[in-house]
Amino acid sequence: MKIGQNSGVAIAGAGFSGATVARRLAEAGYRVTVFESRDHVAGNCHTVRDAQTGVMVHEYGPHIFHTNDRAVWDFVSRFTRFETYRHTVVANAGGHTYALPINLGTINQLFKRNFSPAEAKAHLDTLTHACEMPENFEEQALALMGEEIYRTFFEGYTRKQWGCDPTHLPASILKRMPLRFDYNCRYFSHQYEGMPRDGYTALIETMLDHPNIEVVLNTAFSATDAVRWDHVFWTGPIDRFFDYRLGRLGYRTLDFERIYGEGDVQGCAVMNYCDADVPWTRITEHKHFAPWETHKNSVLFREYSRAAGPDDIPFYPIRLVREQDMLRQYVDLAQATSGVTFLGRLGTYRYLDMDVSVREAMDTAEQFLLTQVRDTPL
Ligand code: UDP
Repeated sequence: MKIGQNSGVAIAGAGFSGATVARRLAEAGYRVTVFESRDHVAGNCHTVRDAQTGVMVHEYGPHIFHTNDRAVWDFVSRFTRFETYRHTVVANAGGHTYALPINLGTINQLFKRNFSPAEAKAHLDTLTHACEMPENFEEQALALMGEEIYRTFFEGYTRKQWGCDPTHLPASILKRMPLRFDYNCRYFSHQYEGMPRDGYTALIETMLDHPNIEVVLNTAFSATDAVRWDHVFWTGPIDRFFDYRLGRLGYRTLDFERIYGEGDVQGCAVMNYCDADVPWTRITEHKHFAPWETHKNSVLFREYSRAAGPDDIPFYPIRLVREQDMLRQYVDLAQATSGVTFLGRLGTYRYLDMDVSVREAMDTAEQFLLTQVRDTPL
């Protein structure tokens, strides 16, 4: 089938993935209709000013844009001014506060020592459990950092976050976080890091603001409508596209409890609560995401993680063995579905950072453009 300038491309979902494909195709001359089931764009990156305090709030939890990918950074920077923002996280464990990721300061504070980098490494070597091929989160943690660091910072938090024993989780989850032997307390190590000045929703709105793009809010794209379009890009849950015919893939969802305070309540953007007996995983004080703004009052979110029910917003794909098997079957179905491309965190059921979603969406759009025979030259 030939697709020309006026042909219809539908995109299900107005998060980073959907918006990136929409923009790229619109700029290449395609007419694009983006369907979004919620009443706002930007998916789980959605930001909105809190009515009481005026603080820009990350409605679905903290989102920090960071990447090493220059093309991704240049692309997203076309649609917002990024303010300098360097994310740090404080870990609250056993009645003390520490720097996270684990760095030399964390190690020295926990072991009440004054190690140099080499001494700290040598000390951890005496504590770690040798394991050539760690097969799960716990084995990976014990092999990297030993019992005390693992029990203090990771075991309780991970149980709360993922709702299962860390031995049931893949080692790859821990690989997201570095272990440092210097005093660097930046959470991310990427070259480019920043916060969109007017929030993520404004960024995505600007990305979608193009004469060839129509955005339809409050409207879930129905998979049965896919045949009516020349091509569909589906960024919703892959299992929903197939009406859950093989079962539901597991997700964690988050609940947020809003708290108000005056001035600076916790002194940082994100404080993780690592102890198993504290029911929340972390508290986010949103004003710290916009250090260039001044606000007298403060709004904080206590964040709780639980298994997602059918009507809950999916956040983290669980990807345990049951899900891996089911996912493989859904991916087979997806590959056999012509005219539909599945992408993004939900569309591929992967734990993707924003920059990776954008990169994959850029590549997906390029691939699509390359494989189309154009009716009408631009
Ligand atoms: N983690 C932990 N304690 C912490 C922070 C993270 O145990 O204080 C674990 C947890 O299992 C988490 C993983 O490390 O899922 C990766 O951390 P990251 O900050 O990348 O998780 P995110 O907040 O993006 O889910």
